[in-house]
Amino acid sequence: MDQFMAQVPVFEQLIAEPSLNAMLALSWQDFQKFIEYLFACAGYRVEDVSQLHFPNGPGVDLNIKAETGKVIGRVEVRRLILTTKVDVNDVSAFWGMLDVAGGKTGYLITTSDFTAPAKAFAATATTREKLWLIEGARLLRYISYVRSSRGKNAQGFRRIPHPTSPHWLFHADTWQAARAQQTTNHATICTVSNNKGGVAKTTTALNLGVVLAEMRQRSILLIDMDGQASLTFALPPPDPAPVPNLADYFAGYRKLQELITPTEFPGIHIIRAHPDLHAMDTGGIAKPESELRFVKDVQSIPNYDWIIIDTPPARTQYTRHALAAADQVIIPVVVETLAANGVNSMLNTYESMRALVGKPPALLGAIITRWKQNALMQTEKPTLVDALRSKSVHVFATSIPHDDNVDKAIRGTSLGSKKSLFTFRKNMGAAAVGYQNFVEEILPNDLNQ
Ligand code: ADP
Ligand code: MG
Repeated sequence: MDQFMAQVPVFEQLIAEPSLNAMLALSWQDFQKFIEYLFACAGYRVEDVSQLHFPNGPGVDLNIKAETGKVIGRVEVRRLILTTKVDVNDVSAFWGMLDVAGGKTGYLITTSDFTAPAKAFAATATTREKLWLIEGARLLRYISYVRSSRGKNAQGFRRIPHPTSPHWLFHADTWQAARAQQTTNHATICTVSNNKGGVAKTTTALNLGVVLAEMRQRSILLIDMDGQASLTFALPPPDPAPVPNLADYFAGYRKLQELITPTEFPGIHIIRAHPDLHAMDTGGIAKPESELRFVKDVQSIPNYDWIIIDTPPARTQYTRHALAAADQVIIPVVVETLAANGVNSMLNTYESMRALVGKPPALLGAIITRWKQNALMQTEKPTLVDALRSKSVHVFATSIPHDDNVDKAIRGTSLGSKKSLFTFRKNMGAAAVGYQNFVEEILPNDLNQ
């Protein structure tokens, strides 16, 4: 990465806050260098070949290579003001330089856009999937996806350890367009997430499911994506025979839908977690193929009104997959010092997944849980609320009070009781009332209303 040394801080700033205007403010040489840096961050080895072809007409700016050194793609960049589009002559000239027969993929990248004939040229049977036209909006998405999908290498450089192509954004868009055309109702997919542990993610996912099923007669599928499997243990199968779990899906020998198992509760099914998920985790690095496969697999599950996904308290591949598949995200928070850290870390992943999928999940907001009316919490609350609002995270009006019945109810269901937090006492406890009010707040977001 020596070739970037001096420019790394500038380029990282552009990656942290990508904008087309900031890219247009670069010289064309620096813009090309920035794209070179971006592909290096995305896991390619990069070689500047712009001098080889210049000035004999349009050429190739960068060769991008696999770790082995084999050239697997070619990149041409056009830093253009937004009203000037790249036309078909430019695109066909680049196509001519590509060496498609040699297995190379082409990426023509601009800050602006492409003319309709240029797009048509890249959509023919010959050029499709070999020539990708990346306009300004997709360039911004690619930057955001790469940004939070990296890990440090031995040289301290933050990059994805394997080449990660921008063409996944097109695959995501194709899927979202197909999903929008589906005429059957699909479930509202709600992911409960925060990178901090102990903030009642699992409790919220469980009780959200139970209120919707017991009191609103909705059909619910819970998906436990945490290797600690708390949700799985809270809802044991009625039949003690071994049941499949999500590790079988990520290992590749079970389809997602085959993992759905019943619980003691009518109207609530679950896809179970297993500690093997921890062992199989690749952390927060990019796995676009797997992420998009999961998006499709979850979004293709029929027959449920709501699919509620519980996530692990860390930057894991499962958090990434769960956020990518979501229509909506709910963030449970406990009022305590440094509470915002777990949220910010999760939001970075959220931004990355939002960039990948064509249709971004809505960030519904944060729900304060385990709330106690004591001096410490009263003092800390405004700080947390301000921190959330500064990230444009809505804070729900309802808070879930601290209530020992929560633990007692979970203990009951984990031993096979059919009584939920809402039915195991004559009078509902404070947390049960809280979760009921919370459902009132989020029901307008039921996509099938
Ligand atoms: P996470 O999934 O975020 O790690 P959990 O849902 O497992 O958090 O909750 C952490 C602990 O706090 C559990 O023991 C749970 O029973 C308890 N808990 C959750 N919500 C409440 C509440 N409102 N009142 C009291 N205890 C709670
Ligand atoms: Mg949990």
